[in-house]
Amino acid sequence: MQQQSNNKCKCGNGGNGTCKNCSKIRMAIMLKNGYKNKGLAKTWYSFYKKNNQPEQKIINGMIDRFKNRPEYTNAVNKLVFYDNYSKSNVIIQSLKVC
Ligand SMILES: [Zn+2]
Repeated sequence: MQQQSNNKCKCGNGGNGTCKNCSKIRMAIMLKNGYKNKGLAKTWYSFYKKNNQPEQKIINGMIDRFKNRPEYTNAVNKLVFYDNYSKSNVIIQSLKVC
């Protein structure tokens, strides 16, 4: 079973390398008051081509991508990471940004 490739989008919704159904990790972005209506995304999904990597490695990669997005500087309280396969609300990791 582990031989099956799960690093692709199987549902057809994943256009840009991430998919709300097929990505392994979901990142909720907790925006500060005053930044909630500025068009910033509140949820990011990991790249599904990395689905076979360990959770922590994927999360670290998402944090790195996040840090390269200046529009989020000052706007974010906290990042919270979830297992997107199970759709569960069990927090894998949470990171206070400022
Ligand atoms: Zn998909």
